[in-house]
Amino acid sequence: MASVKMRKIRKTYDNSVEVIKGVDLEVKDGEFMVFVGPSGCGKSTMMRMIAGLEEISDGELHIGERLANDLPPVDRKVAMVFQSYALYPHMTVAENMGFGLKLAGTPKAEVKEIVGKAAEILRISHLLERRPKALSGGQRQRVAIGRAIVRKPGVFLFDEPLSNLDAGLRVQMRVELTKLHKELGSTMIYVTHDQTEAMTMGDRIAVFNQGVVEQVGPPMELYRDPVNTFVAEFLGAPKMNLLPAKWAKQGNGAMLEVGGCKIPWNGDGAGPIEAVRDDLLLGIRPEHIDVLSDASETGTIGAKLEVVERLGDTVLLYVKIAGLDSHVAVKLPEDGNQWSRGAVVGLRPREKAALLFARSGQRVN
Ligand code: ADP
Repeated sequence: MASVKMRKIRKTYDNSVEVIKGVDLEVKDGEFMVFVGPSGCGKSTMMRMIAGLEEISDGELHIGERLANDLPPVDRKVAMVFQSYALYPHMTVAENMGFGLKLAGTPKAEVKEIVGKAAEILRISHLLERRPKALSGGQRQRVAIGRAIVRKPGVFLFDEPLSNLDAGLRVQMRVELTKLHKELGSTMIYVTHDQTEAMTMGDRIAVFNQGVVEQVGPPMELYRDPVNTFVAEFLGAPKMNLLPAKWAKQGNGAMLEVGGCKIPWNGDGAGPIEAVRDDLLLGIRPEHIDVLSDASETGTIGAKLEVVERLGDTVLLYVKIAGLDSHVAVKLPEDGNQWSRGAVVGLRPREKAALLFARSGQRVN
C-alpha cells in the first residue's frame, strides 16, 4: 500500500495547451479517492501521469516515499484497470490473470495459488478455465480487476472501469468494488464522470474542472457544503437549482428577493454578507423546497407547475417562475397524484439548506 502525493502538477501536451494546471492533492494510504468531473477536464491525464503512461510537465509526484516523476511504470507498484478490459482472447481466465506473474518469472505453483486466491476474492473461481469470449461484460471486468490484484500493487488505478456495463451491472460492480476496497485495504484512485459513482464509492472525492481541482472532501461534505456553483451543480441529480436573488439585511435577519417574491430570512447565513446585494444566486437542492398549493401565502415564490415526473418512490416537479429562464426542480416523496400540470403553486426554500453564491460562482454564506 502507498499514499500518492501530487504537488503543483502540470501537464502541457505537444500542442502547448495546458490541460492540468497545478494540481495539489494527497491520496492517503488505503484511501478510496474518486476523481470526478465532466469529460475533457483532465481526470484521465492525471491518472495516466500517476501510472507513468504520460510524462509530467511540471511539479512533483510521490508514490509512497519515492519521487516517482521519472520512475518507469513497472517500478511504480501501481496497477491500472481500464474501461476496455484488454484481455487476451486466446488465453483462459487463469492464464490472463497470471500472465504478468509468469512474465516476471514467478514459479508456476505460486502463480496458480495467487491467481486462485484473487479468483476467490472476485468470486470467479468457477470461470478460471474459460476464455474471455465465454464471459459476460461484468465477468470480464472482474478478470481485468483480478489481473491487477495478483500484482499486489501499492495503488490501484481505475479509469472509468464500469462505463461499458449496463445500468444494473454497474450498480452491482459498484457495490463489489467498494467491498473489494474494504477487503484489500489498498489505496485506490477511481476516475469517473458519473456523480453517482463518486458519491457512493469515494472515501473522498476530488472534483476536477478544466485542469484544476475545485474541491476535495468526503462526498456528503461536498454535497452539503460546496465551495462554488460548479461543485454544487456537479454533485446531485437533478442538480441544485440556482436562482438569481437579491439580498437586503433587515434587523437581525434579512430579506431575500427571488423571482419578484420576498422571502424573510431569519439570520443563519446573514453574517458575512454586506447590507445589500443584488447579484446573488440562491442555491437550493430539489429535495429542500416545500411546495404549497396556495401560492398566495406570504414568504413563498409563486410558480407554475409544468412537468410532473413520477419515479415510483418520489415525484419530480419542474416548475417555472415568471421571469426566470430555467425550470426549478423539486423532489418530493410520492404523494398519490396530488400534483397536476398547470397548477399554480408556492415554493418555499428551506432556509437551513439554502446556499448563497456570488454570480461569479463563489459561495458567500
Ligand atoms: P477526461 O479524462 O477528464 O475526460 P482527459 O484527461 O482525457 O479528460 O483530457 C483532458 C484534455 O486533454 C482534453 O481537452 C483532451 O482533448 C486533451 N488531451 C488528452 N490527450 C491528449 C493528447 N495526447 N494530446 C493533446 N491533447 C490531449
